[in-house]
Amino acid sequence: MEDRENTFIFADEKSVKEPGPEKLETWKIMVVDDEKSIHDMTKVVLADFSFEGRSLEFISAYSGREAKEMIIAHPETAIILLDVVMETDNAGLEVARYIREELGNSIVQIVLRTGQPGQAPEQKVIIEYSINDYKSKIDLTAKQLTTSVLFSLRSYRLASSLKSELVERKLAEIRVAESERKFRAIFNQTFQFIAVLDPEGKILEINRTAVDFYRLDPNWASDRFLWETPWCGNSSGEREKLKNAIGRAAQGALVRFETAHTAHGNRQFYLDFSLKPVKNEEGGVTLLVAEGRDITERRRAEEDVKNLNRGLEKRVAERTRQLEEANRSLKRSSEHARRMAEKAEIANRSKGEFLANMSHEIRTPMNGIIGMTSMLLDSGLTGEQKEFADVIRSSGESLLSLINDILDFSKIEAGKLELDSIAFDLRTLLEDTANIVAVHAQKKGLELACIIDSDVPFLAEGDPGRLRQILMNLTGNAVKFTPEGEVAIYVSLRKESEAFSTVLFSVTDTGIGIPENRMNRLFRTFSQVDSSTTREYGGTGLGLAISRQLAEMMGGEIGVESKEGRGSTFWFTTLLGKRPDETARKPGLSPGAGGRRVLVVTGNAANRLALTKQLKVLGCRWDQAVDERKALGVLSNARETGDPFDLVVVDEMIEGRQMNGFAEKARGVKVVILTSLKRTVDADIIRSRGFFSHIMKPVRLSVLSECLAELFDVSEKGREKHSVPAEGFGKEKKDKGVTVLLAEDNIVNQKVALLMLGKLGFTVDVVGNGKEAVTAAAEKPYDIILMDVQMPEMDGYEATGKIRSLGGSACAPGVPIIAMTAHAMKGDKEKCIAAGMDGYISKPINIKRLSEAMEEALGSASGGKESGPGTGPGGGQKNIDNSMGPD
Ligand code: ADP
Repeated sequence: MEDRENTFIFADEKSVKEPGPEKLETWKIMVVDDEKSIHDMTKVVLADFSFEGRSLEFISAYSGREAKEMIIAHPETAIILLDVVMETDNAGLEVARYIREELGNSIVQIVLRTGQPGQAPEQKVIIEYSINDYKSKIDLTAKQLTTSVLFSLRSYRLASSLKSELVERKLAEIRVAESERKFRAIFNQTFQFIAVLDPEGKILEINRTAVDFYRLDPNWASDRFLWETPWCGNSSGEREKLKNAIGRAAQGALVRFETAHTAHGNRQFYLDFSLKPVKNEEGGVTLLVAEGRDITERRRAEEDVKNLNRGLEKRVAERTRQLEEANRSLKRSSEHARRMAEKAEIANRSKGEFLANMSHEIRTPMNGIIGMTSMLLDSGLTGEQKEFADVIRSSGESLLSLINDILDFSKIEAGKLELDSIAFDLRTLLEDTANIVAVHAQKKGLELACIIDSDVPFLAEGDPGRLRQILMNLTGNAVKFTPEGEVAIYVSLRKESEAFSTVLFSVTDTGIGIPENRMNRLFRTFSQVDSSTTREYGGTGLGLAISRQLAEMMGGEIGVESKEGRGSTFWFTTLLGKRPDETARKPGLSPGAGGRRVLVVTGNAANRLALTKQLKVLGCRWDQAVDERKALGVLSNARETGDPFDLVVVDEMIEGRQMNGFAEKARGVKVVILTSLKRTVDADIIRSRGFFSHIMKPVRLSVLSECLAELFDVSEKGREKHSVPAEGFGKEKKDKGVTVLLAEDNIVNQKVALLMLGKLGFTVDVVGNGKEAVTAAAEKPYDIILMDVQMPEMDGYEATGKIRSLGGSACAPGVPIIAMTAHAMKGDKEKCIAAGMDGYISKPINIKRLSEAMEEALGSASGGKESGPGTGPGGGQKNIDNSMGPD
């Protein structure tokens, strides 16, 4: 860079064409004369003439005028032999002047040939006209002419070579001047400060940039030492530094450094300074070239960048500090959030505990209200009193279901609701639910059918209580919102994987339906389609919200399709675990029933479908008819084709007509009549009308299966086996003298339980706490103990443990103990079982459940423990608790 900046680059000089005699073959000689003979004579004389190897070439002009033209045409003419008198007396002299003065040709040799000597005064003419020779024609012999030409040529050559030398020198001067000009321009206009020094450091030349920049007087500057100028710093230190540098450069070293100094007042400048030695051929240093480059701008830019960087660093540091501060406050916030979460967790826990207590506290008095009212209802009241008591009971029941809903909802909200995963009989659960709802449905005059596809599993794993709860919600709503028509539950298998079945449950009704624009209100908490329906139908708007949560917890979805005024279908799916022992749960087919031909006669399509699906499961062949006339037609057809029906299942009422007389019309084919739950059926009357038996709607598969078995395999089964047992089995117990110990601290609850147990025919002793219960058990051999869980002094768990470990007491250590608890929270059942109890019944107690629980516990105690799941309608579960659901 440095070198380049300091090197003057000149374009190559074009070689200048040199003027002068051209390298010709001949010497041109012009003869100017108005006499032709002179021309001829000259040519003859000089015919063989040659000089320096070149011969002569003649150019002829016959007048002065012609001569002037010819010399212009032949400027390289070496000699002119010029006559004086031609068209005028001094035409020749005119030509001479013309050549010398006007053409400026001083080298052509003019030899004047005059006819008469003295015609033109010789000396004067020679001088005035720059004539080279003067000859008289007469004197001019051949020899003289040759000599004259020879001399003239010599002179010509000398003159022309002199002239070309002159021209050349002139050109060289021009070139030097040009080069100098260029060099000066560069020297002065470069941005560098340049000074040429002698080896001692004295300034020989200094350029304009430096002079201007330092405002120097160039005359002052030359002959000063460089360190005397403000070139390089102003301090003495700087001066010494410069002297030193010059000393080193004079030794042949290239010196370079950066320096700062002030100039123009107080302005600070930076200089990139160098000293270069110029050496001669022997290597001696003859000159020094000092150069300075103003790098102030660059340094300022660098400084700016540095400052910028420093600013940036400062800002980064500031930002980092802010970030750290933000981090710290984030940490503080998250610590705060953690503490809040902890508090919330504690609050949640207390909420859960509060719920458990609430549940306990509310259920206990509810137990009293509902229990005592049912007792009251059985105590021979007047019509009006009975009505009042009925209202109290149903209000109590709806209050309890409301509490259950709210409790469930709070549990879900608090994330406290956990699902069971136990094996259960899906069909039985469905049929049980259908039966419970059927009571209400049939009271309203609605048909209720439960249609289960044949591939729906019998045994499944999941939470039966919660599944029943959803079904109860949907079917309960369907019945509630359907003034006439039917409610049908459809169950089908949606999907199956190795471990799970996805089952679809839909509840279809022919009720009031839901307006399109209100659909979005469904499945939300406390949301009802129309506020007026609250008044008409009651309810809280919690059922669907809970159902949705439960269905989703069970891995399913929930939805609805509805048309206002036409009815609705609420559906949901759940994932149910598969059981390897599932096939074992299929009802065993009676050997006599398989392949039998059965005709189903009912006007209700849902009922027809439900029955035919069941017959398919049982392996029967089936047909259907919608009314009596069609049925009789089908029957006679079958007879005629030789494939008569073995059984007709006929609805008790078709299109408003009683079917009491159908058995007789069936002409020998056995007929079973379908009856509603709403009224008691007298088996004798049924049989007297010719029916084989009756089955209640909605038909349970097990009941149908038993009926067929009985029909086709009479010897094995008793006739009445399938019919639902009436209440009153308590009598049996009384005969056997079953003694019960009731441990319960609450007086109202004691009374309720006592009344119910008495009604069921048990002999009861009552104690008020766990301690007393242990003492009583030690003293008397009770057959069964009903144990409240929460009691003063000693709770039910502890008392159970004590009784189990009693040695040599009156009560057997294995005496069945049933827990009675108002606790309805998850885990209570497990806790009771873990404490050594055999069963579990939750308050408020109802007589039917109490009776079932006692049956179960006593049955197990007397060796019936092998009764696995499914021996009977309850599925044989240990948990006899049904009150968790909202029914
Ligand atoms: P509730 O029945 O206690 O009001 P739900 O959550 O069970 O609460 O139902 C919410 C609302 O959805 C009901 O109030 C009713 O307006 C509407 N609904 C539910 N089921 C049906 C149905 N089968 N037919 C018509 N409307 C229904």
